[in-house]
Amino acid sequence: MSTIFSQIVEGEIPARIVYEDETTVAFLDANPLAPGHTLVIPKDEYERVNDVPEDIATDLYATIHRMVPAVEDAVDADATTVAFNNGEAAGQEVPHVHCHIVPRFEDDDDGPIHAMFGQRPDLADDELDDVAADIESRA
Ligand code: AMP
Repeated sequence: MSTIFSQIVEGEIPARIVYEDETTVAFLDANPLAPGHTLVIPKDEYERVNDVPEDIATDLYATIHRMVPAVEDAVDADATTVAFNNGEAAGQEVPHVHCHIVPRFEDDDDGPIHAMFGQRPDLADDELDDVAADIESRA
């Protein structure tokens, strides 16, 4: 069964589409965190960031790059939080990769992404070295 976002791409359910090209589409979030909250997706269905082929990832970033200033200007935002919930454990509810562009305002008191994390791990230098080496070897 196709995702709700594929149904938007196919025109089967309504959405406030604000940009569309051959491979990507941007539309307003139906339950916005702020006025102008916009989602950017690849038209084809990929679940996670890492599932998106390189050429489509390039297109997706180009659309994000285009839409951030459009959204900020439209609602006179001071900034934006630009984020992916990448996987269910990270809070992703719709299994069709999507970038949130959430307008931010000087006085919105919502804090940075860092505010989501209550406890931070206390990592020793050698643990940081190990994890850096491990990531580097897989990159
Ligand atoms: P996430 O938790 O990252 O998967 O976010 C999914 C987002 O999709 C939420 O912010 C929802 O408000 C939004 N959403 C769900 N259904 C629709 C829809 N039909 N049209 C627009 N946005 C939607």
